[in-house]
Amino acid sequence: MILVLKPNTSEESPEYKQLCAYLTNLPSIATRVHTEVGAEQTLTELYLIGNTKALLVEDMLGLPCVDRVVRISEEYRVLGRHQNDDRPAFFDYNGVRFGQDTLNIFAGLCAVDTIENVEIMMKALQAHNLVCTRMGAYKPRTSPYAFQGHGKACLPYVFDLAGKYDIKVIAMEITHESHIEQIREALFHTGSPTGVMLQIGTRNIQNFELMKMAGRQQDFPVLVKRGSGITLDESLNAAEYLASEGNRKVVFGLRGMRTNLGDPHRNLVDFAHVPVVKRLTRMPVCIDPSHAVGTRVDSADGLSDIMHVTAQGIIAGANMVLADFHPTPSKALVDGPQSMLIRELPHFLEDIHIARQAYEKRVALAAQYQVAQ
Ligand code: PEP
Ligand code: MN
Repeated sequence: MILVLKPNTSEESPEYKQLCAYLTNLPSIATRVHTEVGAEQTLTELYLIGNTKALLVEDMLGLPCVDRVVRISEEYRVLGRHQNDDRPAFFDYNGVRFGQDTLNIFAGLCAVDTIENVEIMMKALQAHNLVCTRMGAYKPRTSPYAFQGHGKACLPYVFDLAGKYDIKVIAMEITHESHIEQIREALFHTGSPTGVMLQIGTRNIQNFELMKMAGRQQDFPVLVKRGSGITLDESLNAAEYLASEGNRKVVFGLRGMRTNLGDPHRNLVDFAHVPVVKRLTRMPVCIDPSHAVGTRVDSADGLSDIMHVTAQGIIAGANMVLADFHPTPSKALVDGPQSMLIRELPHFLEDIHIARQAYEKRVALAAQYQVAQ
């Protein structure tokens, strides 16, 4: 059960102390406090863990400081969407809103290779009014001999250039907890010209110690990508690790499932699960068409497979798109075959716009039919 307290409830107030005293005396109930400090207000939620079935919502509503009460199911306690749960399904980070009704495009380099390519990419993003990007510094690779990313060495110029081109959020994969500190330090030394959304990739989603470390900090939001060989339930539980440790600024990424049945695509595209994740949880949902499809090939109708599946994800309500681009894909050190060309960016964006409009029209139509019923 969650007790949502009145905005700006002070932990020092006598009412709050009275509430805590009451809760401490409840048998077999432990309390966990979650505080979200926003620009306008501070929100406190108390998670009651244990035998909460015996508690009545009406009684809890009568307690001091309590604004709302949410009875939650066992699954995905913090991130889940529970009955009568009107808690917000969005968060703000560095001036950008991430929610279940927004759409953010993260076009960028799969892996940072040269400073020149980072600049070409960011310049193109700014020219198209994009404020988010992806830039891999730490790359998990199948072969130990493959390029592993430039690591912390590239962070200063990536952050400086992001500042120069007004990029607000960079999705950046981490593969070890030390990377969080390296990113924090590099941001500090460059004067925080941008923000970072930590990315935990499909290989690491069940690296629970890494998940806990990313969950124990609230400086950076986290994009967690679905495990490609585990059930959706297992992946959502893994995401819950972040939130249970205190960080609920979490985006859930779909990137295709590992199965040869998906051939000739790199993975079997799973974007039909966009609405499913939005129904089960309050996380914004990201799609990664590049890693799902894995090749830049065109279809007979002149649209690439990547653009087709992007549109499929957007028309199903996706909130974020992670897409690989590269100035010279043949020279990219990672994932060149699936990287789109910089000159394809405007076409990609217009196509996304069409799909997004179609999604919005579908939602409006559904609302009309619901009213008519
Ligand atoms: C990536 O986004 O660069 C990546 C490695 O993705 P995934 O974890 O989905 O394979
Ligand atoms: Mn990649």
